[in-house]
Amino acid sequence: MTTVYNWQIGREMSYPHEERHPQWQFAFVFNPNRCIGCQTCTMACKSTWTFSKGQELMWWNNVETKPYGGYPQHWDAKLLTMLEEANPGGQVWDARKNDAEKQPYGVFNGLTIFEAAGKKPRPDFGPQQALGYLPTDDEWRAPNIHEDTATGDYFQKKGKDQYGGEAQLPEHKVWFFHLARICNHCTYPGCLASCPRNAIYKRPEDGVVLIDQSRCRGYRNCVEGCPYKKAMYRPTTRTTEKCIACFPRLEGQDKEISPTGAPAETRCMSACVGKIRLQGLVKIEPDASWTHDPQNPLYYLVRRRQVALPLYPQFGTEPNGFYIPPRWVPRAYLIQMFGPGVDRAIEQYTCPDRELLAVLQLFRANRQIVFRYEIEEGEKVAEIEVTMPSGETKVQEIYNDTVIGYNKHQEEIVRVTIEEPTFERPAEAHVNSI
Ligand code: SF4
Ligand code: SF4
Repeated sequence: MTTVYNWQIGREMSYPHEERHPQWQFAFVFNPNRCIGCQTCTMACKSTWTFSKGQELMWWNNVETKPYGGYPQHWDAKLLTMLEEANPGGQVWDARKNDAEKQPYGVFNGLTIFEAAGKKPRPDFGPQQALGYLPTDDEWRAPNIHEDTATGDYFQKKGKDQYGGEAQLPEHKVWFFHLARICNHCTYPGCLASCPRNAIYKRPEDGVVLIDQSRCRGYRNCVEGCPYKKAMYRPTTRTTEKCIACFPRLEGQDKEISPTGAPAETRCMSACVGKIRLQGLVKIEPDASWTHDPQNPLYYLVRRRQVALPLYPQFGTEPNGFYIPPRWVPRAYLIQMFGPGVDRAIEQYTCPDRELLAVLQLFRANRQIVFRYEIEEGEKVAEIEVTMPSGETKVQEIYNDTVIGYNKHQEEIVRVTIEEPTFERPAEAHVNSI
């Protein structure tokens, strides 16, 4: 066991593997407030990497409808229950102790999957390195189960109504949201820690977590040990496969997208219709902390503004996927999923200031990765009254600023204004113009 520092849980923890960190880390922000559940991302990934024999039930990218959907079914509820059983009443946060650098969401006082592993005896295969379970074939079979199924006030009045909920005028109290998921290319991966063959590794150049197919023997310990269930077994090859972060694109090898060899975003990110995805590479210090880099949009959203939060940080793997919590969902549900940073994140997203609004325009603005942004100030164009989560109203001032994004080679790749420009086509050239 090694003692490592996990900034997402605000403390040291034990990790059953030696500590080694990449120079850069693949990371992404998803904004479920904008996801329409169209599954374009899912099909973009499927048609690129998992269309072959034995991969039929394999979805490296999936979009599930929360709270009932899940791929595999109930993956999160099952693991949360196991953790609660291992540490009854103890899976709690202390959000009072926070510090932007070392513990931005406070301290998680419960057990991570690594710390809880010893609590579950496994006489059949010996001790687990990470608390987990192997989903059944049935649980993998319906990746989009409960699509668009809403719930009512179930999470407030437990047991009232399991599926459906209320829809009564004048106000609909039903809710659901789409949770898009890929492998989080975790800093302390549960899959890697669980592999007895040392077949799983993190690439030093970008932190992408890969499975060496020549070493894998298909024991499926990684399937058990990944809390997000993003390692998937392929029966035809008897090995496990997972998201590879489209690494040829990260390496700038797709000349169509990156003529100068600059890193590009993955297929699922590039295809996103709802513009909910922003992918990046963040610079990592030897002690695993993120290098202070405030003009990197990922650093800005995750570390400086804390508007995007990790998915189930309490699992302890330090996932590198971050989410802007959906505003309409009951807070208790969001806090168990994204930790105690939810209130602050929603407060900021509800009424973004000038800089945040500009950075949010970078989502899906270009297929190359934005490493640095700059903002050119524009004129004030509007004032909007915004109702905050507390019920108070605020006036949001909108400026027509321009955000400019640069790739790894410091070449300008995108320029977006806050106000969408309108173009009028000349009637003489386009007869169908109105
Ligand atoms: S999400 Fe799962 S498969 Fe991906 S790196 Fe983390 S533990 Fe491994
Ligand atoms: S393509 Fe984008 S909007 Fe559509 S389901 Fe995927 S993440 Fe959501």
